[in-house]
Amino acid sequence: MLEKIVSLCKRRGFIFPGSEIYGGIGGFYDFGPLGAELKFNLKQEWWKSVVRERDDVVGLNAAIIMNPQAWIASGHVEGFSDPLVECKKCHKRFRADLIDLSGPCEECKAREGFTDFKQFNLMFQTWVGPTQESGNIAYLRPETAGGIFVNFKNVVDSSRVKVPFGIAQIGKAFRNEINPKDYIFRTREFEQMELEYFVKPGEDDKYFKEWVDARFKWYEHIGLKNIKKRAQGDDERAHYSKETIDIEYDFPFGTKEIEGVANRGDFDLNAHKLSYRDPDSGEEFTPFVIEPSAGVDRIALAVLCDAYHEDGDRVVLKLHPKLAPYKAAVFPLLKNKPKLVEKARGIYKLLRSDLNVAWDDRGNIGKRYYAQDEIGTPYCITVDFQTLEDDTVTVRDRDTAKQERMKLGELDNFIKNKIK
Ligand code: ATP
Repeated sequence: MLEKIVSLCKRRGFIFPGSEIYGGIGGFYDFGPLGAELKFNLKQEWWKSVVRERDDVVGLNAAIIMNPQAWIASGHVEGFSDPLVECKKCHKRFRADLIDLSGPCEECKAREGFTDFKQFNLMFQTWVGPTQESGNIAYLRPETAGGIFVNFKNVVDSSRVKVPFGIAQIGKAFRNEINPKDYIFRTREFEQMELEYFVKPGEDDKYFKEWVDARFKWYEHIGLKNIKKRAQGDDERAHYSKETIDIEYDFPFGTKEIEGVANRGDFDLNAHKLSYRDPDSGEEFTPFVIEPSAGVDRIALAVLCDAYHEDGDRVVLKLHPKLAPYKAAVFPLLKNKPKLVEKARGIYKLLRSDLNVAWDDRGNIGKRYYAQDEIGTPYCITVDFQTLEDDTVTVRDRDTAKQERMKLGELDNFIKNKIK
């Protein structure tokens, strides 16, 4: 099933292997025209729900490269590592906590065993400035949260936020994963959507529950099924975390985390020696942090897996209209009838002013439906000879394959209501 999705994504322009014409590069992918739209829609829905629709959360867009002191203070330079082992036969490297060390090697199937593990730091290093000296070492951020914590005081001082409040950010993160795998599930460059929600100690349990619920509901809102919550056990939780709940999706390769919601206590603000003074009571304290941290690429993959359906030889991506790259496609019934083409072009341009709409005039209508089903376009609008007489079009629904005739004037609202 995953192979079918990978092939569809390549063929139709959702996802390409990174730098493919040079043989690719492990753990990096490029998002094509449709993948870029899908990711954009996901990010927009998240931003709307976490930032725009709330009074208590503001956004941030911090630099990817930070003063390395920030990563020393946060503990990443010392400890952001995974345990690495090597197969004694083929020397392929694995993350020790993700494989069965008593079983055969996943790569060469040999049973010679694995080396003892050593800790491997996942941060990518680079140099800032023209000289490659140790004093110029910098890191590509391994998570977006760092930029939020170091700006805590800036945001408090420059906006009207008061605890409890949150700062949200969407952006690229980089991890030199030992063994990137499962398509875009585990890559070395990916996008995160993170919220750090600052609360008064003692009120953290309540807000933790609220955020777990809010985030779970968001997945329902974007139409994702087959998700569940799972509390992390004491042995897997980060040392500073009081409680962590993962939101997991049933991928074809197993049930895996797409988002983690953690109660990080006062670990982060303490690490950066930051605190907060309540402007009303004058009380000074270090807020606790509730962190819902989600990966755009993992959610995109979950959404694609969930949407993929086969109906005979017809492939349908049943994406929620909110997420579909194109909300509708407009077709003139025949390409060689200028009046039809002109009328259809007019409708296409009108809808396009605030919806992403596709145009297709190739081949027969059946083929065009088939092509739009495969990329998840919820509605196909056909302009035929009757349109020229009474300003009605046929609107065909992706999921039911049923058609209805509709007045042109109703079209825009019809689609917008479905997206809502
Ligand atoms: P894992 O245990 O799978 O390595 P993690 O628990 O280290 O993941 P977090 O640090 O909690 O992941 O990151 C938050 C979110 O960022 C994850 O839920 C995931 O959606 C995303 N993410 C983390 N690492 C990757 C990666 N290598 N590729 C794609 N997305 C990732």
